[in-house]
Amino acid sequence: MDFQKIVDRWLYPKDFIPFLKKVYDGLVDYLGKEHERVIYEAILNTKFVFNKSVVDALTDEDMLEVNDMISYGDLQRSSGVYESLPSISFINGEYQIQQVKRIVVVKSFDQNHSSSVGTFIHELGHLIKGYYQEYELDGDILKKRSGFMVETYQLKEDKGEVKRTLIAKENTGLEEGFNSYFEEEFMKKYFDSHYEALGYGGIRISVAQMLDKLGMKEELIEADLEKDFSIFLRLMEDEELKDLSSIFDRIYECDLGLIKNMMNKEVYEQIVKQRNELIFKDYLALYNKMKEKRNRGL
Ligand SMILES: [Zn+2]
Repeated sequence: MDFQKIVDRWLYPKDFIPFLKKVYDGLVDYLGKEHERVIYEAILNTKFVFNKSVVDALTDEDMLEVNDMISYGDLQRSSGVYESLPSISFINGEYQIQQVKRIVVVKSFDQNHSSSVGTFIHELGHLIKGYYQEYELDGDILKKRSGFMVETYQLKEDKGEVKRTLIAKENTGLEEGFNSYFEEEFMKKYFDSHYEALGYGGIRISVAQMLDKLGMKEELIEADLEKDFSIFLRLMEDEELKDLSSIFDRIYECDLGLIKNMMNKEVYEQIVKQRNELIFKDYLALYNKMKEKRNRGL
């Protein structure tokens, strides 16, 4: 691990090295030595931007994209982001990925504040789970993956320029749950034993319950890292997996709604009620089925 090379490449301050080393050693320890190469390359090839708003940082890098599924307001509210952007060319009737630009932004960063370190760790989680085979091209369809999350884009060539249109986004809630769980566990282990991941409470609690109680924690974390869905299909039917993913998306929407409506007591309480129903009725019913199937399989 050549920390000097990373600092030189992106012009980070010298005092960033000890912090980065602590984070790196933690990642290798937590995610496993077999993933060290991906962790190193992901960190080496990604620019970290600190103390700048997400919108400003993405604009500066020419990476700002808003669409039906990712709104400007959500980006303005976010304390951090991981974003990657492929440059795609159209050569001899075929789309090709030339290179991928990656960035991690933390709006307000202080090495000594666990909440901002936690935001950095959360975005690093998205980066590392995305980095390996992040993009897959199939004709004019481009798939982008991070952990269990899949974004599908339609490509179109127009006067030498390749345009992408997001047509589907799947498993966002499920992946955000896994990533928020990772953030909290990682922070507790290496930085602050009292750390609590703020925001995304509903999906984090649901994933934590799954990982802590189902008795397949290591396997599920590894599957998330490998972008491998088959583990769920051992526990449930295809249709049930779709239900699970959709329930997580709705819990995630509630989590976002709570952040947005912090000041509006009436709406806030209504969302809490809605979220509790999703977690304690819909999700729990599916969880019990998974548990039953797992117990039978043992
Ligand atoms: Zn996230």
